[in-house]
Amino acid sequence: MARRRLSDQQHKRIQARQDSLRQQHTDAGNDVTAATAVERSGLVIAVFGTALVVEEPDGALRHCKLRRAVGRALCGDRVLWQPQGDGHGVVLTVLARRSELARREGTRRKLMAANIDRLIIVFSAQIAFNAVNLDRILVGAAIQDIEPVIVINKVDLLDDEQRAQWQAHIAVYRSLGYPVLFTSVAQRTGLEGLTRQLDGHTSILLGASGVGKSSLVQCLLPQRDIRIGAVSEVSGRGRHTTSAATLYHLPADGDLIDAPGLSDFGPDHVTAERISAAFPEIRPLLGTCRFRDCAHRNEPGCALLEAMQDGRITAERLSSMHTLIAEQSDTAH
Ligand code: GDP
Ligand code: ZN
Repeated sequence: MARRRLSDQQHKRIQARQDSLRQQHTDAGNDVTAATAVERSGLVIAVFGTALVVEEPDGALRHCKLRRAVGRALCGDRVLWQPQGDGHGVVLTVLARRSELARREGTRRKLMAANIDRLIIVFSAQIAFNAVNLDRILVGAAIQDIEPVIVINKVDLLDDEQRAQWQAHIAVYRSLGYPVLFTSVAQRTGLEGLTRQLDGHTSILLGASGVGKSSLVQCLLPQRDIRIGAVSEVSGRGRHTTSAATLYHLPADGDLIDAPGLSDFGPDHVTAERISAAFPEIRPLLGTCRFRDCAHRNEPGCALLEAMQDGRITAERLSSMHTLIAEQSDTAH
C-alpha cells in the first residue's frame, strides 16, 4: 500500500513537472534551453505552511512559495524552483522521495520529513526497556529502507548492575547487526560514536519526550542558533515561529533534520508478510513452515517456533512480530 501510494504521488509530481516545463517552453517562445536554464535545484530546509526555505547548492537560502498544484513539500525534499521578480522563488516540482517520515496524530499520519536514510532511535536509560516499542520502530525503518541506530542516553544515571541489565536487553539487537550506542550528554560520552553514525547520511532523532533528543542535538550542532537566525531572516518569520522540522548540516559530512515531537513511528498499513520479513532473523524462515497459512502460534512444523525453541529467535521478538501484525489489522481500514 505504502509503495503504491508513493508511486501515485511520484506520477503526479512527474506530471506536474512536465506541465510546468511545457508552460515555460511556451512562455520562452519554444526555446527549450532558455526555458530550462531558469529551473534550479534546491533542498527544502524548513517549511511554514506553503512557504518554504530552500537552500541552493551553493548554500544560499531562498524563500520559496509552493504552487498549489505541486502538492506538499517536506523538510528534506529536493525540489526544482524558479526565481521570481520579487527575489522570492516558486517551487515547480518536488522530486521523488526515498523515504517519508510521519508523525501519528490520532489515526492520521502527518508527514514531517523526506529523504531520511538514518533513524536515530533514542531511549533514556532511566526508563524501563520495552522491546515491542523498539521493534515497532525497527520494522517501520526496515520497510522504508532507513537504517536504524539505537541510542541509550543518560547512562551516567546507571549503576553497574543497571548497566549490565541494559547490555543484556540490547545484546540480541547487537547480534542482529543493529548499531547500539550508550551515550551521556551530561558526561559527554558516546558522542563521537554517534557523530560517526551520522557521517554522510541524512538523519533524524526519534524518541519519547524527555529522553534527551534536544540535548543531543545541541551537542551535535554547535551552529544551530546561527541557522535558526538565517532561516528566520529569509522566511520573514520571527525566531519563535519555528518550522515543524528544520534541516541542519553537520560540522562533518551529513545532515540532521530536527523535528521536535517525533516520537511515534512504525509500519503503516502493511501486510503481515512485510512485517515478518522486516525481522532479519525471521525473514529467511518465511515460507518454510509445514502449513502455507501457518500463523506461527502453535501449529505443528512451524519453522518460527522451532527456531525459537533452539534459540535462533527470542520469544520477545516473536511476540513483537505478533503484536505488530495485530496492530496492522486494527488500522487496516
Ligand atoms: P527531549 O524531550 O528528548 O528533547 O529531552 P531533553 O533534551 O529536553 O532532555 C530532557 C532532560 O534530560 C533535560 O533536563 C536534560 O538536561 C536531561 N538530559 C539529557 N541528556 C542527559 C544525560 O545524558 N544525562 C542526564 N543525567 N540528563 C540528561
Ligand atoms: Zn509458522
